[in-house]
Amino acid sequence: MTNRRNILKGAAAAGALGTFGVGYAGTVKKIAKGKWSGDVPRNEHVTGNSLPPEYSVDPLTGDVIPNPDQAMSYTMCIGCTTMCGVRVRVDKKNNKVLRVTGNPYSPMSTDPFIPYESSVAESFAAMAQAGKANGLANRSTACGRGNAVLQQVDNPRRVLKPLKRVGPRGSDRWEAISFEQLVEEVVEGGNLFGEGKVAGLREIRDLETPAVQGAPEFGPRANRLVWMNCVDDGRDNFVLRWLKQSFGSNNFTRHGSYCGGAYRSGSGAMFGDFKAMPHAKPDFLNAEFIIFAGTAPGNAGNPFKRVGTLIAKARTDENLSYVVVDPMLNNAQNAPSGERSKWVPIKPGTDGAMAMAMMRWMFENDRIDHAYLSQPGAEAAKAAGEANWSNATHLVVVEPDHPRYGHCLRGSDIGLEIAGEAYSEADPYMVASDAGPVPVAGGPAPLFFEGEAQTGQGPVAVKTALSLLRDEAMRKTIEEYSTDCGIPDYTLIGLAREFTSHGRKAAVNSHGGMMGGSGFYNAYALVMLNTLIGNLNWKGGTMIAGGWFPDNKGPAYDLVTFPGMVKAKGLPFGRNVPYEKTTEFKTKKAAGKPFPADGPWYPNAPGLATEWISSLASGYPYHAETLVFRNTNPVYGVPGIAHLVDKLKDPKVVPLIISIDPFINESSSIADYIVPDSVMYETWGFAKPWGGVWTKATTARWPVIEPKMAKNAAGERVGMETFLIATAKKMGLPGFGDNAIPDAEGNLHPLNRAEDFYIRGAANVAMLGKPVGDATDEDIALTNVARIADDLKAVLKPDEWRKAATIYAKGGRYEDIEHAYTEDKATHQFSQPMLVWNEGLGSFRHATTGRHMPGCPTWREAEFADGTKVSAHYPEAEWPVKVMSFKSPLQNSYSVGAKALLRIVAANPLNVGAELAAAHGIKNGDMVRLTTPGGVLESVAVVRDGVAPNTVAIEHGFGHRGFGANDITIDDETWHADPRLAAGVLLNDLGMVDPTREKSGVWVDPISGTAVRQGLPARIERIG
Ligand code: SF4
Repeated sequence: MTNRRNILKGAAAAGALGTFGVGYAGTVKKIAKGKWSGDVPRNEHVTGNSLPPEYSVDPLTGDVIPNPDQAMSYTMCIGCTTMCGVRVRVDKKNNKVLRVTGNPYSPMSTDPFIPYESSVAESFAAMAQAGKANGLANRSTACGRGNAVLQQVDNPRRVLKPLKRVGPRGSDRWEAISFEQLVEEVVEGGNLFGEGKVAGLREIRDLETPAVQGAPEFGPRANRLVWMNCVDDGRDNFVLRWLKQSFGSNNFTRHGSYCGGAYRSGSGAMFGDFKAMPHAKPDFLNAEFIIFAGTAPGNAGNPFKRVGTLIAKARTDENLSYVVVDPMLNNAQNAPSGERSKWVPIKPGTDGAMAMAMMRWMFENDRIDHAYLSQPGAEAAKAAGEANWSNATHLVVVEPDHPRYGHCLRGSDIGLEIAGEAYSEADPYMVASDAGPVPVAGGPAPLFFEGEAQTGQGPVAVKTALSLLRDEAMRKTIEEYSTDCGIPDYTLIGLAREFTSHGRKAAVNSHGGMMGGSGFYNAYALVMLNTLIGNLNWKGGTMIAGGWFPDNKGPAYDLVTFPGMVKAKGLPFGRNVPYEKTTEFKTKKAAGKPFPADGPWYPNAPGLATEWISSLASGYPYHAETLVFRNTNPVYGVPGIAHLVDKLKDPKVVPLIISIDPFINESSSIADYIVPDSVMYETWGFAKPWGGVWTKATTARWPVIEPKMAKNAAGERVGMETFLIATAKKMGLPGFGDNAIPDAEGNLHPLNRAEDFYIRGAANVAMLGKPVGDATDEDIALTNVARIADDLKAVLKPDEWRKAATIYAKGGRYEDIEHAYTEDKATHQFSQPMLVWNEGLGSFRHATTGRHMPGCPTWREAEFADGTKVSAHYPEAEWPVKVMSFKSPLQNSYSVGAKALLRIVAANPLNVGAELAAAHGIKNGDMVRLTTPGGVLESVAVVRDGVAPNTVAIEHGFGHRGFGANDITIDDETWHADPRLAAGVLLNDLGMVDPTREKSGVWVDPISGTAVRQGLPARIERIG
């Protein structure tokens, strides 16, 4: 409808354009005609080549009138790990995604998001001009990358048929083979490449023969098939079913250890779970003060789009101020945000020094939350009205040679009668009292104590966890911390004062900036600041994700367990378990010298892709026989891996490498076979928010367009699921075929197609708790769920299919926003204690040094695996510069094929601080050489303010050698390299191997085993 108001708006816009047009008349004409995007203008629409609207809403009746040529489907974007709920416009005739915007039901894309009960038509109306605030109240968006990555679907460099390498590994020459040949060869093996026999999957799936003779702890030979994934895009349950329960391999890992794993590990230490690594996020809208350390709200991280929206709102409409502590000034701090935001530069990789300085000041000035910290257990916390509790008051054994060193003192240690096993849950933790150690009870306990406790074996020295943390904080003066991190002492004190001036409405947040050589302790120290002010589970403090409606084991179907399933066993390939469990340790101990181990072990870490690369290359703890990459790219992502890749190219080191991927990236480039896979809007899956959403949320993804991969002889599209089902059936593995999926009554249903699995998952999501309503015919028609309606009916029972259709029509299942808070606390709370002292951490011995490590936050300079300081090997006098990595909101490691993004930012220059540039005679635009002990790269310098002294910052996502940046020959056709895709540099080329490791391996954090890319020692020179 055109009304007077619209006409006025249009006039104002034209006026503005007219003014702008004085200097840019040509550009304006092109924009108006749509030429800027290279399209031929159609001149049909007011704004050049804008698309015909997907629907309209009658302003009088509110009726939604769909455009019959376009579908508007709610599904999921996987342009990054945020996995937002989005709506895609599909050109039905051409099977083409036209545009991507947000799903108004989804908190990942909308705030406030609409009630789940709203019909699809109401959701359309909410976003139209007929909706609240002219549709702006429920405005729902995709980010710039989300709008661009749809191009990946039609990327001409997609792999659509199975490929087999021709010639040596890594030579980028391939032949297309049939799906049937692919399955036959990888299952049966043989002399596949004329290089000698390669064991096939059937032979490797041996559940009897040990993976390592004489070392039964590593489980069976089946473990020699190792699987590397990227992020769980909602399809990992399918993979894990095949890998663990059917094939019987225990070796599966994801990319976290070379992404943001150090932060998650440090958080996991405090949350008491090193494997799941829970983390909380600030309650952005209700907090009054937030410190973002090594992360920029709205720039990157997960969920960066939602965080960006909330921060913008909170600093405008609410009461939020924040400080970004980062070596580089980014767009989280800008002029329009005025006094609400500040930037504090810091030396890369030294955030622990900042956090410990703040802690020191907080201890010295008694700015910690006694009421929270003094509650020693759940009962006491409840009685005191607290939302959580910590182990700050628990006594810890601190006598170095005592067998319980680093552990918390328990009732059994002092001879108390307990109704269960020693050190089980029945064995109480002990706190101090005037009468000596007493079990945790229903009231507060002393925060600080150091002295002795009487045990059956005599007295033992103990301290409270908080006393130990205070000791660590007091180890250095604020001036010394200031020297280490480069932040003036008065700024450190100012940060601590401000942070402790808002009660519980303050928070610290971090993420990828912790990927340094001290990353684990830096992260543990930062998150501990939250615990010292007791902000967890409070509105305005920090909160965990609200959870989700899981798909895999629900009221309707069990997608996890099945008849004949096996239990995968054996120590994992990445050595993230105690070294003491190995035969190597026992043998060395018997010989009187248990330490050092032949390589590092990381008992306080999750699965470690970084260490897998080292394990693959060195064969420690054993050699793999088959490596599967699934949509993952460690060869691009792991700093320093360039030094190990040649080993992986040798088929004797890993005889079979299979990549399941829609593209030939740097990792699939060294594979033997590539299994084509679906992209984005062609795939199935379910995902939950990592954090930052306080209500339950499950985002559903379904093929809103027909996938492009070739079909097999049975007429099915080839992809990951087709491949796994076919190989499982050929090997006769349990869990696939006609009788594979039990329902609630124990009846078995088939698993012969991807639909058999995911659609039953949708039924689980729909039926959990109070089931969702049935999708109406209108819901199904408006969202084009009609496309999959026959599958829904074929797979599900009559009373299930319309409920599953609701999940797809609304793009998931979302708890209503009102459930976020219960009065002044989070509704979905983290109910375990915060660990001021983590006894698993404080009691283990580092495998390569044999030393104990602190069980609480501390500041430690970066170390290598043998415990020596990195600066002792690479002194600052020779390596005065520090290199750091950052991400923009646009590019990531796998989005480069979306060329629309390259039109915005074509490459990544080196960001050099003005002072550093002046010292080396570098001017803006000069070519410079950057050298680390791990590599050299040359690029253009951008000289700017807003970079910490002696720091060079490099954006991640460029400098590719795969994805089409290289020549690729398939059969007789060569896909020539596109220089646009190769543009820029990759910081990981500067990454380092650890020179102190006996078995070759990249430099990683000594506790979390995570990659190091923040704070690489370097030098810089102008070369032209
Ligand atoms: S943040 Fe952007 S790229 Fe990432 S999932 Fe959401 S819309 Fe897609």
